[in-house]
Amino acid sequence: MPYRNEPPTDWTTAPYKQQLEQALAEVKKQFGKTYPLYIDGQEIMTDDLLKSVNPANHQEVVGYISQATRAHVDQAIAAAARAFKTWRHTTFEERAMYLMKAAQIMRQRKAELMAWQIYESGKNWAEADGDVCEAIDFLEFYARQAIQLGKGVELTPYPGEDNRMFYLPLGVGVVIPPWNFPLAILTGTAVSAIVTGNPIVLKPSPLSSVMAVKFVEIMRELELPAGVLNFVQGPPEEIGDYMVAHKDVRFVSFTGSKNTGLHIDETAHKVSEGQRWIKRVVAEMGGKDSIVVDETADVEAAAAAIVASAFGFQGQKCSAGSRAIIHEAVYDEIVNRVAELTRKLEIGAPADNAVVGPVIDEKAFAKVTSYIEIGKREAKLLVGGTADDSTGYFIHPTVFVDAAPDARIMQEEIFGPVLAICKVRSFEEGIDVFNNTEYGLTGALFSRRRDRLEYARYHMECGNLYFNRKCTGSLVGVQPFGGFNMSGTDAKAGGPDYLLNFVQPKTVTEQF
Ligand code: GLU
Repeated sequence: MPYRNEPPTDWTTAPYKQQLEQALAEVKKQFGKTYPLYIDGQEIMTDDLLKSVNPANHQEVVGYISQATRAHVDQAIAAAARAFKTWRHTTFEERAMYLMKAAQIMRQRKAELMAWQIYESGKNWAEADGDVCEAIDFLEFYARQAIQLGKGVELTPYPGEDNRMFYLPLGVGVVIPPWNFPLAILTGTAVSAIVTGNPIVLKPSPLSSVMAVKFVEIMRELELPAGVLNFVQGPPEEIGDYMVAHKDVRFVSFTGSKNTGLHIDETAHKVSEGQRWIKRVVAEMGGKDSIVVDETADVEAAAAAIVASAFGFQGQKCSAGSRAIIHEAVYDEIVNRVAELTRKLEIGAPADNAVVGPVIDEKAFAKVTSYIEIGKREAKLLVGGTADDSTGYFIHPTVFVDAAPDARIMQEEIFGPVLAICKVRSFEEGIDVFNNTEYGLTGALFSRRRDRLEYARYHMECGNLYFNRKCTGSLVGVQPFGGFNMSGTDAKAGGPDYLLNFVQPKTVTEQF
């Protein structure tokens, strides 16, 4: 079967609505359970437990997760190294089959998987649906890509010689995914390494631990050989650097903030005693993404895209359009429409499918509200600006206008529901403002002029550029995803080159 994206479901209509409500009720009954680590095919419970709470109601404990020590990390890396001896010799086809089966299980458990992240991550129904669909997409897409990769490549014929080049796995990988796409990115980063023949130590974000446990449960149903997938959850300061610096680790695949990504990059590239390779680091980091609107644009479409890009999942996507750069000729019209649409966004519990839910935790709440205070000094507050953490970490979608291009709210990643709007006098100035950031992840341009779209195609510096649509919601296989500069190594998750990050090519020549 050719690869196609998993279709989304409208969970607000029968019979899906009832299914999801039932899953939400079932999952809620399981709140407060304790979950193990999983190393070398064994569950390990520890005394030290981390509490994962519902960000919409911080009194509610979704689950308790066993916390690993450095000794557990040693065990996990040793188990992965042992597993590598045989896993490396399995074929790409064999490994791909595990992924296809996992996709099937996720399809069957979709409502339940969504329910966990609705509670643990604060996603509304459509965002949760999108996340599970994307996880399934990664499984189906990488399975097919792996089979392709297993075929090797065609080389130039040479008389008297048989020349071949093929791809071999690298070794033990450390995989550190983020909390904001708690199943999708976790699945994508974990299985891309596994399907290319590399056993992994998976250390997810503490903020989406239970979702990670659910992924491990699914992979256990497949009966992968012991040591291929090791799940080690724990305090980053205790085990994070330790695992990244470990001499037996061959590569690190990280998605998260710029600061953590840079730190991991530096730590991984210092050669440890006894280490026999240069570690590879794949890092997908933050963004300060913008939507540029010129004077020819469809005003209504632009305003809707600005609001969707800024406030989808409370602005907690690295692809979020946290800046809008608008030509003065359409500025007032767009600003008014953005304000109108933003005021309509209803805030509430993700379980009730409110459009806007909470930000992920107390730290995020403090950070985003402090940026709102900075914004009040730097620009003009148009909508929102208030927050309430009495029950959950709720922040009202906030819009600042007349922001200067170098204002902090125009430069720094806030990772919350805060939009900064800036006025420009020309299309060219808009492009300059767009490019004046250290990041380069996503961007969008609204224009009806073909010459400007063509100019932007090569001059707007970002990894994922969209014309006349929002800048979030890349689809696996359709829009390979990754950014320039401080947004990361531009590995292009969900793209045709992604698996090459986890293999090394070998050329063999035989003369006769
Ligand atoms: N791929 C996602 C999108 O296009 C963003 C991923 C992220 O936030 O890490 O919206």
